[in-house]
Amino acid sequence: MVGAIGVNEIKYLDRNPPAFAEDAVRRFARDLFGLDGDFEPLVSERDQNFRLRAEDGDAFVLKIANAEEDPGVIDFQTRALMHVERQDPGMPVPRVVRAVNGAVTRTVSGPGGTRHVVHVLTYLPGIVGEEAPQCPRLWRTMGALMARLDLALRGFFHPSADNPHPWDVMRCPDLRAHTVHIADAMARGNVEAVLDLMAAVVIPKLRGLRHQVIHQDANRANVLVDAGRPDTASGVLDFGDMVHGPLIAEVALTADLVGVDTDDPVGVLCDVAAGFDSVLPLEEDEIDLIYDLALSRIATALTIIAWRKAATPDQPAYLRDLEEPGWALIARMMEESREDVCNRLRRACRFPPYCPLDAPSAAPGDSGDMIARRHRVLGRNLYLFYDKPLHFERGRGPWLYTPRGEAYLDAYNNVPVVGHCHPHVVNAVSRQLAALNTNTRYLYDSILEYAERLGATMPGELGACLFVNSGSEANDVALHMARLISGRRGALIMAQAYHGITETIFDLSPSGDPRDRQPEQVRTLLVPDPYRGPYRHGEPDLVERYAADAERAIAELEEAGYGTAAFIFDSFMLSSGVPDVPPGYLDSVAAKTRAAGGLVIADEVQSGFARSGTHMWGFAANQVVPDIVTLGKPVGNGFPLGVVVTRPELLDQFGNAIGLFSTFGGNPVACAAGLAVLDVIEDEGLLDNARRMGERLRDGLGGLTDRHRWIGDVRGRGLAIGVDLVGDRETREPAGAETKRLLNLARDNGALIGLEGEHNNVVKLRPPLIYREEHCDRLLDILDRSFAQL
Ligand code: PMP
Repeated sequence: MVGAIGVNEIKYLDRNPPAFAEDAVRRFARDLFGLDGDFEPLVSERDQNFRLRAEDGDAFVLKIANAEEDPGVIDFQTRALMHVERQDPGMPVPRVVRAVNGAVTRTVSGPGGTRHVVHVLTYLPGIVGEEAPQCPRLWRTMGALMARLDLALRGFFHPSADNPHPWDVMRCPDLRAHTVHIADAMARGNVEAVLDLMAAVVIPKLRGLRHQVIHQDANRANVLVDAGRPDTASGVLDFGDMVHGPLIAEVALTADLVGVDTDDPVGVLCDVAAGFDSVLPLEEDEIDLIYDLALSRIATALTIIAWRKAATPDQPAYLRDLEEPGWALIARMMEESREDVCNRLRRACRFPPYCPLDAPSAAPGDSGDMIARRHRVLGRNLYLFYDKPLHFERGRGPWLYTPRGEAYLDAYNNVPVVGHCHPHVVNAVSRQLAALNTNTRYLYDSILEYAERLGATMPGELGACLFVNSGSEANDVALHMARLISGRRGALIMAQAYHGITETIFDLSPSGDPRDRQPEQVRTLLVPDPYRGPYRHGEPDLVERYAADAERAIAELEEAGYGTAAFIFDSFMLSSGVPDVPPGYLDSVAAKTRAAGGLVIADEVQSGFARSGTHMWGFAANQVVPDIVTLGKPVGNGFPLGVVVTRPELLDQFGNAIGLFSTFGGNPVACAAGLAVLDVIEDEGLLDNARRMGERLRDGLGGLTDRHRWIGDVRGRGLAIGVDLVGDRETREPAGAETKRLLNLARDNGALIGLEGEHNNVVKLRPPLIYREEHCDRLLDILDRSFAQL
């Protein structure tokens, strides 16, 4: 029955306890429950309760219910306690003591023929939490204990769990009819505002969240602590207010702020929430409602106190004492900023800060004092993108969000290859992290499954894996391997290449090195760029003419006594201006390298994982088969993972010479991430999607060429796209300064793009492969507007 709480329900608020004489009570205990001993009356507003100490020292509580009490309600409470005992035998709650005839409850007759349900529970030792000093640990352990209780109650239901109950948060708007009794006008207004917000906004949200039977009244009067450890909750009593309700209400009701003496009520909520969350993890939607639920509890208490006073003026003193501080408390709590309170609660439970995801347009982000803090703790040289750096709090699919919820379309980052925070990857990582994380000195299945699946995507014998944690590490190991196996030292790289940060690999990363230098053992090759390079589209023998530079480099390395250990390349040369590599060029340089005794390393950190739209790997799209493949960045969609894949005989040769072991490399969590990325690429058909979206983007960019004179050349494969900007299409004079301006304009208009190339004049687009038509069109629209503003 749902509806306003009317006069029929006020009995729940009223006092009218039964008053059996002690000898009658003794008789009930002995005859019905087989118990005898010393009886001591306990305070109860509604029932008549006694503590019974048996001769053997066991203690019990005998409860004689109010004649008005629905027997179903007592059945609900006893069945709930029995369920908890079955689910969590150690849970410190009273146990149900059965009657001599095996029943859970018995019924006795009162003087005027009234009928009263009698039942017996074990007596829990301890002192009530109200008498213990308040401290954060008490609140946290109360939260944790209630979470444990709610876990035990999870599968329980009883028809009486849906009975109307005046303290039920879902029914609090019904109390609106009784706020008239609140004497103080300001408090009345506050209470009404809270109840109205509950009705209009909070309760509809709560309806969609987790519900179960909850205790609903674990304030400090109903929580026990041990005398020896008064800062630790050790038991829960009084199951008389249980309802089937939203789980998150338990947190706000356990913190029950009315009557709590504290300067920081929000801190109390945080402590209870953190304790609860440590045992029964809260959901993000739930945590943001704790503040409203806490307000609704105060509003409910103030209304019920006033209503009771109006119905029966001689109320107990403690209720009167709660009233005025309660008025002050609700006013004070309502002055808090909802966002600040939510963020404190989120921090307490290690949730990321609140971030609305529904503000579609981008505006300049605010970096506050973060830059100064970065300088202090991260040094002054950690370069940030954009003139106005961006502060992000969330990612979802192709979008990144600022703390204010402004959405930026990511067209640059290739790490989230299957989209930011893809739920399949997030779940796979979290589940594995919760199950096992160890290292390759032990047997576990996921590393085998992952290596087998990776190998199946590669040609020939490529399929023997060595796992590390980053692209740099993978390249470092690959070069180490090539040097050891070839017995040579020299390396061939492309001009403006980038392969990583270790000391050895940084020598192979001129695009990351501001010093203009030529490490002795390294030779850089002319980028085969038929748009801007010395040999251009339409000219004959492009491959031979560009590849001839490799012969020069190999000869120089021989001359210098290093020989050629490796040619390392990124197939789409994404750090070298994303040129249209002439078909056959890579294979030709690979053949020259092998002829010189070196190995061929394909760095797939940027070009791999279906980005080409036609092949899983960039080298395959370029018809070259390497000896070693290195993977990083997108391999775990953001989870650190690097892989070196080679032929078994090469891995054995390397391993026989030196045995490498990486503590974190290929751990079960990393493999879970890697497997989940492969799942998504297959399940969502991302290879073909990359081809279709790539075509759409390139077609659209081609269309923009007619409108914007800066666009000199549009090129690339799949979702690896370069746009060469020129000041003059005839001379192809690179428009570096304009490219940088365009980047900042696109950022201001809501899209993230990058730049590359010798002259910093190539716009680099590497969007997540989950782009749909609307994302391509949005990006094209933003680029169109940004070009127009140049
Ligand atoms: N190789 C390439 C082609 C890269 O783009 C990068 C990173 N930008 C790396 C290697 C280095 O990877 P990491 O930063 O994970 O060490």
